[in-house]
Amino acid sequence: MSHGHQDDQPNRLLADALSCADVRGPVDAERAVRMYREDAGLTDSCPDSPQCPQNPQTGSIYRYSLSPFARLWIKALLAVPFVLYSQPHGVLEDPDRSVDTLSQTREEAHRRYSEIFRDIEAMIDDHIAHQNDAENPFPSKLKLLVPSIGPFFTRLPLEAAFKFQDNKRYISSRRFVSPSFNDIRLILNSAQIMAVTTYGTLQLATFDGDVTLYDDGQSLEPTSPVIPRLLDLLRKNIKIGIVTAAGYTTADRYYSRLHGLLDAMANSADLTPAQKQSLVVMGGEANYLFEFDSSSPHLLAPVPRQHWLTPEMAAWNEQDIAQLLDVAEAALRDCIKTLNLPATLMRKDRAVGIIPVSPEIRIPRESLEETVLLVQKILELSTVGRSRRVPFCAFNGGRDVFVDIGDKSWGVTVCQRWFSQKEGPHGVIKGENTLHVGDQFLSAGANDFRARSVGTTAWIASPVETVELLDELAELMGKKMS
Ligand code: IMP
Ligand code: MG
Repeated sequence: MSHGHQDDQPNRLLADALSCADVRGPVDAERAVRMYREDAGLTDSCPDSPQCPQNPQTGSIYRYSLSPFARLWIKALLAVPFVLYSQPHGVLEDPDRSVDTLSQTREEAHRRYSEIFRDIEAMIDDHIAHQNDAENPFPSKLKLLVPSIGPFFTRLPLEAAFKFQDNKRYISSRRFVSPSFNDIRLILNSAQIMAVTTYGTLQLATFDGDVTLYDDGQSLEPTSPVIPRLLDLLRKNIKIGIVTAAGYTTADRYYSRLHGLLDAMANSADLTPAQKQSLVVMGGEANYLFEFDSSSPHLLAPVPRQHWLTPEMAAWNEQDIAQLLDVAEAALRDCIKTLNLPATLMRKDRAVGIIPVSPEIRIPRESLEETVLLVQKILELSTVGRSRRVPFCAFNGGRDVFVDIGDKSWGVTVCQRWFSQKEGPHGVIKGENTLHVGDQFLSAGANDFRARSVGTTAWIASPVETVELLDELAELMGKKMS
């Protein structure tokens, strides 16, 4: 089973939490938000706290635009017209009248939902204006309504994105199921794709591995439909970074996970040498960099750390790293004991994790989440954690839990700098030129969500969705070019 299913679980819980919208009961947003926060592990000590040591680049892991929390807020806004205007009794009418009622309801719902998205879009524009005006001491309206909202890299054409997804998903035609968290996730993805191809210029696309490019624990086989789409991006001179938590020190291990893509690149007759050099693999979140190289035995050449570490990363001290991993290891061992987990410990050079004792065993989601939150807290409170000299990422990988040194915000930053430095002063790749595609935005630790602080993001739930997203992107880029 892919851990995409696992990631659906928080969404289902969210849907339960927001049953106000789904069963037409009273809207108890406070309860819903509380349940959501508990479920997502957003404990009170962390959101918005500038003290949170998780991400020294921004201060806190939760202060990014359109967090799951903001998506929940949008869902609550859409619940109102759904409750007021959808006509569930229409199905009981005689069939001739029912067709008319349905089309009227659909048009009305479409109009109302569109208006809401247009209003949120305007609020985001206003928020961006505030963010760009250093003189203005007052928060935007959006900041007042959703305090956890962070900076935006691009404006978001939400109304257009809603119309696009409504055409595909028939959201306005539904009379019993309100606009869901999933609908909103996909609308926001479309808006982000529209934004990076309209207001910004996409220069770098980074991809998570498991669940994004291939099913959990699998590899990129030659038949994967993702491969021709990635080659197409390279042909359009977009740089690609595969930013995965999977931490291996040698190229052969990454080759075994990515061989379908690497072989296709090596055999491609139409990619130029520069385009082939536009793919890097960033492994262990931000710990091992490999460059595509046709002449290397596994088509990947390791790049020595001193060639790519940012100045901040270069200051991470080996002793602190070892100490942090020691504390994490002890906490993980404790969890194995106290939660009686069918798991074994795996210590690596830049990570420590627990994996099931055998591949067919699944550790319950709740145990994985408990482990992440507990280890995270112990690390935060430890001497080395409190010093905040070395960032780390403890996360639930669906079947396992890992604590990595650094996180994907650093991994994506390295990709931005790596390609910027190759392009010279005119090729600087910024947040608005970057799109990170990943699946982990809600489960404890949410390692892809960390990339939100350095670039735009798309949140997918399976490799099939990645293919759909890349098709959307190709279509919009095609339109822009023509
Ligand atoms: P991603 O989805 O590509 O980021 O990969 C995450 C998965 O990689 C985890 O759930 C683990 O199963 C696996 N993995 C293998 N080695 C490591 C490691 O050193 N750190 C974190 N995850 C690892
Ligand atoms: Mg993943």
